[in-house]
Formats: sequence, structure tokens, C-alpha cells
Amino acid sequence: MTEEYADEWAAQALRRVRAGGADVTPTPLRPLPLPAIRGIDIYLKDESAHPTGSIKYRLVRALFREAIANGTLTAGTPVIAATSGAVAVAGAHFARLLDLAFTAVVPAGTPAGVLARIGAEGGRWQVGEQPPAAVQQEARALAERLGGHFLDHFADAGRAMAVCGEPTAADEIFAQLAGERHPVPEWIVTGAGTGATSASVGRHLRDHGRKTRLAVVDPENSAYFPAWASGCADYTTGMPSRIPGIGRPRTEPGFLPEVIDLMIPVPDAASVAALRWLRTAAGIDAGPSTGTHFWGTCHLVARMREAGVRGSVVTLIGDTAEPYLTTHLDPSWVRARGLDPAPYEAAVERFARTGEWQAGPWHAR
Ligand SMILES: *Cc1c(COP(=O)(O)O)cnc(C)c1O
Repeated sequence: MTEEYADEWAAQALRRVRAGGADVTPTPLRPLPLPAIRGIDIYLKDESAHPTGSIKYRLVRALFREAIANGTLTAGTPVIAATSGAVAVAGAHFARLLDLAFTAVVPAGTPAGVLARIGAEGGRWQVGEQPPAAVQQEARALAERLGGHFLDHFADAGRAMAVCGEPTAADEIFAQLAGERHPVPEWIVTGAGTGATSASVGRHLRDHGRKTRLAVVDPENSAYFPAWASGCADYTTGMPSRIPGIGRPRTEPGFLPEVIDLMIPVPDAASVAALRWLRTAAGIDAGPSTGTHFWGTCHLVARMREAGVRGSVVTLIGDTAEPYLTTHLDPSWVRARGLDPAPYEAAVERFARTGEWQAGPWHAR
């Protein structure tokens, strides 16, 4: 392969990956009207509207762009990822766009529905060994064996988003709010999985000198809240999160605690409650992380209301409800995990009806 050919491939590949992004008009910013709450506008940025149905589309697009731009990903390079989740689906999507083979090394017990989505995007998968941490090693080894590129979404998230992440969710949010009555939100609320989204929002706020503050919600068992609260950068709980996409057993390199104004720990039962409320009362079909986001949003809106502050609050829809119909959206699955969403559901319902947020055991007032 000549230099010239390699460059040409890269130029064309970058055009394709970028077009894959530009074709998608900004993901919708959906207002969530709550009649009891006057003077505060809530918006949900619908990241499930991306072609692969999740917020990970932005991160994976940035990972591909960066890998092509710096010459790691060239014509014919197989791409390998270690995940059963949304990164594998988006990885398969972009690999196909570039005519590259894609393999996801997935943990044993990955639901058939997830594997089907990887397959539908033209990707392959192989089941890795236990424990799940070994999947990472295995994917790396496979990439070396095949002379392929390991799509390391945890290690490379921060850099790829900083260099090749635009347009970020924050870029789009500010453009979309421009004509609204509160164009600069008081808060943007995200979760943290790789940390890429919260880091990119926080960086945008500082870079543009916005008054908007960044709040990050964190589920049970996650290392992020204790790391942020204690100022200890390397924190490990060793326990997996039950909210897919957010919460990690250890702090990941893409997580940027310095740009976060507030972290809100959210009980898993509260995430499920908020998710159910969004689905039944607001007609929003989203996944569990959106429940966590919305719980934190209710908390902040209530605080604003109490303080007499008007303005807007923006949070994100991370993915769709469909993959969770037999898990988080199935009451028997929830019960079997010892979760009782009922009191939290009552709290969200009351908040939506009256604007009052009941002091509960779930947060200090
Ligand atoms: C990954 C993910 C998040 C969090 O995004 P990061 O940028 O990785 O921190 C939120 N919700 C869902 C559904 C996700 O898959």
C-alpha cells in the first residue's frame, strides 16, 4: 500500500464517519411540561435518536475519527471491542460504514437481544471468559493477534471526545435553546459511564464561560460519587452497577471530577421509579439511566423552585426502553433484585403534581 493510497483511504473514511454524523440532524431536545412547576423549563435531549439508539454513538464516532486521523485505523484493519453494550452496536455500525470487520468480545450471559443488535449492524461477537474483567484482556489479545484496532472506550474516551467529539451534546443543546425563554440552562444533568459525556459538557461550559452548572447522577455501587466527594481520584468499589451505561466499579480515566459542580447519588429503586413515571405519565420510552438522570433533575428543579429561581434544566435520554422490557421495566425482575420503587414513585408523582419534593432518606437536605 502506498502512502498516497493510505491517505486517500483516511480522507474518505473521515468523510464517511463525519457524514454519518452530519446527516443526523441534532438529536431532538424535547420539552417536558410539568404544569405544577411554573417558571422552570425541563428539557430532555434525546440521545436515543442516534442511528444506533444510544448516547454511545457520539463517543464511538469520536473514537473512530481519532483512530483514523492519527493513522491507527487504516484500510482493512479489523476493529475489536470488549463490551456487550451500546459501544458494540455503535462500533459495528461505524466499522460497516468503513467496510471493516468488527468483533465484540462479550461477557457470558449477554442477552440474545443485544447480540442480535450487534449482528444487525453487521458485527460479529464471541463470548469471553469469566470474570467480565477478563473480557477486556481477551479483546486486547485478539486485536494483537489479528493486527487489529482495539476500540478502548474507557481508556480513550477523554482524549477522543476532546479532539474529535464535536458536535458534542452541549454544542447542540446551546444551539437548540437559543430561541427559548431560558436559553442558558441553570443545570445540565448527566450520568457517568465512561465519563465522556459529563467531561465534554463540563469542558464546553468552561470553554464558553457559561453560568450553567453540571450535575452528575450516580447509581448505587459506583466509584464516581465517592471519588468526587473525597477528592480521591482512584477509587474502587469493585461492585457492578445495576443501571446499564452508568456507574462503574472503579473510576475510569475519562471521568473528569474537576468540571462537575454537583454529584447526586441515586438509589437504584429511585432510578426504576423515575423510569416508570417517564414511561407511564410522560409517554417517554427510555432506558434505566434516563430514570437516574430524571431523578436528579427533579431534585434540582425542586431546589430551584424553593429558592425562587427561574430558568431551564436539561438532561439526557441515554437509550430506549426496548432492551429493558424484560428487566428494569418488568416488575418481577425488579422485585427479584430486592428493589422497591413504590415510595420513590410516589415521590416523583407528587413532585409532578405539586412541585414539592419530599425530604426522604435518599438525600441530605
Ligand atoms: C454510556 C451511557 C451513559 C453515560 O455516558 P458516558 O459518556 O459513557 O459517561 C448513559 N446512558 C447510557 C444508556 C449509556 O450507554
